[in-house]
Amino acid sequence: MNNILDLNLEELQQWMEKQGEKKFRAKQVFDWIYNGVFKFEEMRNLSSTVKVKLSEEFYVDIPEVVEAYKSKVDDTVKMLLKYRDGNIIESVVMKYKHGNTICVSSQVGCRMGCKFCASTLNGCVRNLTGGEILSQVIVGGRLIGERISNVVIMGSGEPLDNYDNVLKFFELVNWEHGLNIGQRHITISTCGIVPKIYDLANKKFQVTLAISLHSPWDEERKKIMPIANKYSIVDIIEACKYYINITGRRITFEYALINNINDRNEDAEQLIKLLKGMLCHVNLIPMNEVKESALKKSSTSSIRTFKERLESAGIETTIRRELGADINAACGQLRKSYMDSRNI
Ligand code: SF4
Repeated sequence: MNNILDLNLEELQQWMEKQGEKKFRAKQVFDWIYNGVFKFEEMRNLSSTVKVKLSEEFYVDIPEVVEAYKSKVDDTVKMLLKYRDGNIIESVVMKYKHGNTICVSSQVGCRMGCKFCASTLNGCVRNLTGGEILSQVIVGGRLIGERISNVVIMGSGEPLDNYDNVLKFFELVNWEHGLNIGQRHITISTCGIVPKIYDLANKKFQVTLAISLHSPWDEERKKIMPIANKYSIVDIIEACKYYINITGRRITFEYALINNINDRNEDAEQLIKLLKGMLCHVNLIPMNEVKESALKKSSTSSIRTFKERLESAGIETTIRRELGADINAACGQLRKSYMDSRNI
């Protein structure tokens, strides 16, 4: 049995033809799914033979919303979603002036081991398929009753560690009769898996690449992000320049400010040296504290000073709004507390 959401239109058309059915049946099936009908037996314009064949071969894995929390402060909705095999992940829907954005997970857990992140505490359980990532966007839209127009792949998991499935997701979410979310409305965030940044550039996609940098020093970065033992900052910057040259897209550098670790003047100066002249933008993130970690977030005044230093060197810099601060919205925290409270 397979998740039908992992198929694109052409693949389902081919399957229909193999069954001796007309290929337009495939579009009918997807039309039902995108209109909220997830059971083949309820798809009224299909013959009973097709319905039976579909149910023998496929299921529609729309994850169950186990819990949903809505922030009282800013309407952010955090969802804990359970797939058919019982695995639980989290996604967050955020409301911005420019439209609704969903932050999706790409893996159940993560094996990258970043010290400030709750998603990695129990390692990576498995990759999510393209259809499973897509279904988070479908569920998010249904839950808020509005269209989702932007996707950031920044929840649990390292997307470039699940490269093929994430590429399939780009294709599925872009389908004009489905969710119709174009590549320019997708941001993919990586901790810096250098060879995959080159691969992504060579595909000439138009997605925004976000790099979780978090320190301008290799030695410091190694202390908080084990991936830094494999790829140096210079390697990452070279790969980013290549990405910019090939795609013409501006890169975002994510930088979670941690008190006295990466928010000092010398950190800002080194960051400026690395990024000056690049088509990029720095997104400063007030770190979400994880109770299992001793790292503390920077003070508001250090964050402001850091921003001003970068800006005075001509580097465009923003401070990410702290969305959903009242609902444990940081990466992996909600899933972790849910699993811990049930001894899962
Ligand atoms: S920050 Fe991202 S890459 Fe690092 S452990 Fe968490 S989910 Fe994985």
